[in-house]
Amino acid sequence: MRNAKTTYDVLIAGAGPAGSSLAIRLAGAGLKVALTEQKKFPRHKLCGEFVSPECVEHFAELGLTATIESACRAELRETVFYSYSGRSVSIRSDVFSNGESSAIGLSRSRMDELLFERAHQAGAEVLRETTASRVIVNGKKVMGVEVTDANGNRSEINARLTIDGTGRSRQLVRMVMPLVKSRPTLTAFKTHLAGAEPDDGACEIYSYPGGYGGLNSVGDRFNLCFVVASDKVRATGNDPELLMREIVMRNPRAAQTLRNARAVEPWLAVAIDRFGTVEPAPVEGLISIGDAASFIDPFTGSGMLMALESSRVAASVIPDNIADLSALREEYLEVYGRKFAKRLRYSNILRFASSSTRVGEIAVAALRSSRSLRAQVARHTRN
Ligand SMILES: Cc1cc2nc3c(=O)[nH]c(=O)nc-3n(C[C@H](O)[C@H](O)[C@H](O)COP(=O)(O)OP(=O)(O)OC[C@H]3O[C@@H](n4cnc5c(N)ncnc54)[C@H](O)[C@@H]3O)c2cc1C
Repeated sequence: MRNAKTTYDVLIAGAGPAGSSLAIRLAGAGLKVALTEQKKFPRHKLCGEFVSPECVEHFAELGLTATIESACRAELRETVFYSYSGRSVSIRSDVFSNGESSAIGLSRSRMDELLFERAHQAGAEVLRETTASRVIVNGKKVMGVEVTDANGNRSEINARLTIDGTGRSRQLVRMVMPLVKSRPTLTAFKTHLAGAEPDDGACEIYSYPGGYGGLNSVGDRFNLCFVVASDKVRATGNDPELLMREIVMRNPRAAQTLRNARAVEPWLAVAIDRFGTVEPAPVEGLISIGDAASFIDPFTGSGMLMALESSRVAASVIPDNIADLSALREEYLEVYGRKFAKRLRYSNILRFASSSTRVGEIAVAALRSSRSLRAQVARHTRN
């Protein structure tokens, strides 16, 4: 073990949108920040890559407007939901931003790399290809982490506050709090395609028994991301091409838009075992952000937004409370609950409704009849 001990105000594990954006915000507030990421960037990430319009405001706060605007991306002016029978309803992207901006389709390999580099530029110490492998606990308090780099060298990093930004795997939270294991009922797949044919400027969502899939441009190719029941995955021998053809393309619109599509990246797959909040501040000295705190159904297209918003919430309480971790914990839980509890409950209801193709048909019919109902339903998945 390397014996180099360094002390930071804040150590953040995981450089997804939550971790990197928090590093930028806290370094900008004058704190001494370390950000550690296990993967080598750029790396592909399983995600629909639909960047909700409200993220634009966050990119501006993070000093990334020009960089994001010059990245290869697509403007997504609407999301069109196609029921299993092929009926459709469209929700304009600008309902989320009071008419100000569109959503964008942007590859996570590019977006996450840009955020990570910006964190470095903003003054955070970035540890590349370095895994937070153990939390350092003193009594019941987390005091930092042990990290392991790509060569297997380990070192301790002490921090007044440690942040779990490791996504749905909640690596650090798991180390201090055993999480009840639940058998994944859903599996998600993603690839980039050439030759897909969604409408220009649309993110298209296809419903089918047991799941849904999304297709949108990310500039020079198309993202296809879909969720299916895990038992179907096992039954088809875990073959994403087969699942795309035999399950996703049972939706008539998907059959049309994907008929000439071919994967130009390897498929990625993840199991989804739970939705909702786990514990945003499990013990003193450790808080979680982004998916590590709460996972909202991808159906809402707002996971990255929540990651950026949770970093904003954390950044609003950390600088003033860093000397009193008990007060920080209470304050974070309070503000976090106020900000996210309602939308998570609402998204749960939508998920149950959309998991039935019959209820999906009724919902599409109802939404087609009223523009204001569409806007209301969409906005409730945010605030
Ligand atoms: C099927 C599916 C589709 C989705 N589609 C969309 C969409 O279209 N739009 C949208 O807004 N959201 C979508 N989401 C949600 C979105 O991907 C997440 O909400 C978002 O990535 C959360 O960001 P995060 O920073 O919390 O975590 P992540 O993006 O998961 O980042 C966590 C980072 O931590 C790193 N890490 C993990 N463990 C360690 C460790 N021990 N040490 C160091 N680093 C570590 C990982 O390598 C990773 O880079 C989708 C999710 C799924 C599952």
